[in-house]
Amino acid sequence: MAFNTRTKIKDLLKLAPEQQTVTVMGWVRTRRSNKHVTFIAINDGSCIQNYQIVADPAFIDEELLKKAATGACIKSTGKLVESQGAGQHTELIVERLEILGEADPEAYPIQPKKHSLEFLRENAHLRMRTNTFAAIMRIRHQLAFSVHEYFHRKGFFYIQTPIITASDAEGAGEMFRVSVLDPKNPPLNDQGGVDFTQDFFERETNLTVSGQLEGELAAMALSEIYTFGPTFRAENSNTTRHLAEFWMIEPEMAFYDAEDNQNLAEDFLKYIISQALLHCHDDLEFLDKRASEEEKNKKADQRNELSLLERLKFVIDNQFERITYTQAWEILRESTPNKKKKFAFPIDAWGTDLQSEHERFLVEKHFKKPVIISDYPKAIKSFYMKQNADGKTVAAMDILFPGIGEIVGGSQREENLDKLVRRMEELNISREEMWWYLDTRRFGTAPHAGFGLGFERLVLFVTGMGNIRDVIPFPRTPGNAEF
Ligand code: ATP
Ligand code: MN
Repeated sequence: MAFNTRTKIKDLLKLAPEQQTVTVMGWVRTRRSNKHVTFIAINDGSCIQNYQIVADPAFIDEELLKKAATGACIKSTGKLVESQGAGQHTELIVERLEILGEADPEAYPIQPKKHSLEFLRENAHLRMRTNTFAAIMRIRHQLAFSVHEYFHRKGFFYIQTPIITASDAEGAGEMFRVSVLDPKNPPLNDQGGVDFTQDFFERETNLTVSGQLEGELAAMALSEIYTFGPTFRAENSNTTRHLAEFWMIEPEMAFYDAEDNQNLAEDFLKYIISQALLHCHDDLEFLDKRASEEEKNKKADQRNELSLLERLKFVIDNQFERITYTQAWEILRESTPNKKKKFAFPIDAWGTDLQSEHERFLVEKHFKKPVIISDYPKAIKSFYMKQNADGKTVAAMDILFPGIGEIVGGSQREENLDKLVRRMEELNISREEMWWYLDTRRFGTAPHAGFGLGFERLVLFVTGMGNIRDVIPFPRTPGNAEF
């Protein structure tokens, strides 16, 4: 007989109490007893709610009930009856109890009390058994599903770009090398460097930082595509916004200009967030309460004016502010914190990159809504971005979100071969290595655009969590790859 005859708690909660027999399985959160009765609250991860089962010690072996302690995994069959207590409209009267997996309650790290996020990060192998992390993972699932749904409905094709690459799209040298050479004794070339021609791929290879360049190749055939895969950056940025391994969504569209690109990104973000509100109501409500509690520990001037749920609705209901880099620069230069020298990086000359303190000022203090900044100085952006007629700026866009900073980076791409090659020469990017990329501009080039959304930054925004390490199951950051 098959084992899985259980009812998920999510479905069980919807059933009417008609004395029917049901089986539940899950992990014990709490157990309390008196002489007459034992209450066991279990959770199976299907929803935020626990389910309370009720055992009469006269019928169920006492030793067995003792083993159904916090952390243990149990299976229980019984009759579904109307609940006597508050909070749950049915309860299960236990007829059969089976311990699927015992847990020593003294040794089990996840106790029925509030644990710090730091402690839970050290116990990431068990943290999904808490309400907070299970809620985050369910929301993460919904967001990922909505990404595919959004693009699928619009006729975009999901493309898998390589994870191992020989090109460095960003030209930043912040990549993880992939090699099978013996690190103690690598073959050397005539110059005394490592001879990568003897490596697995007969060249130097790395983990990808972005699927964009290959995405562009696909868009030049299928018109509208998107990628959704892991990306890797070996940058040593120990911030609450950076992971060494994160997931990125990168749509790339033929026949789109910079404005089409902005329209798509705004519509996409609003759709994804509205789907989370629609389908993750209980989890979001839980996280909303959690975030409100956290707010109380913050200094008055750092508190959010809006609650988590209000922030999500606000993003959906309001148009994103659209400004150019030059406008942003003017606002920042004239801003009070700049004049009072409050910025760690003062805003002075046109052309410097915006730091996260500037982005947050624009989003959280000045506009108080998501902001799309476009037309950045070409010197601070990538070689492939479309060069504007002014000769100084490129058709880039960054989308900035409250509490997050940059969530999306994108651009219209330079489709003109000569202009692209000239820019690559200026930046010392090898034309020979990029021959395949340049071929798109040689054969049937087309105006096109795209952007990259950091998936974890989106999950961070939607869950209201403060640290990106808490919105991915097993975070990879400098010094951390335990689980
Ligand atoms: P930042 O300035 O915040 O480091 P970036 O300019 O390096 O971002 P892009 O190269 O444009 O970012 O990548 C596109 C998107 O990927 C960003 O908008 C962001 O949402 C996300 N992202 C970039 N780096 C990371 C990272 N280390 N961890 C998580 N998400 C990231
Ligand atoms: Mn970066």
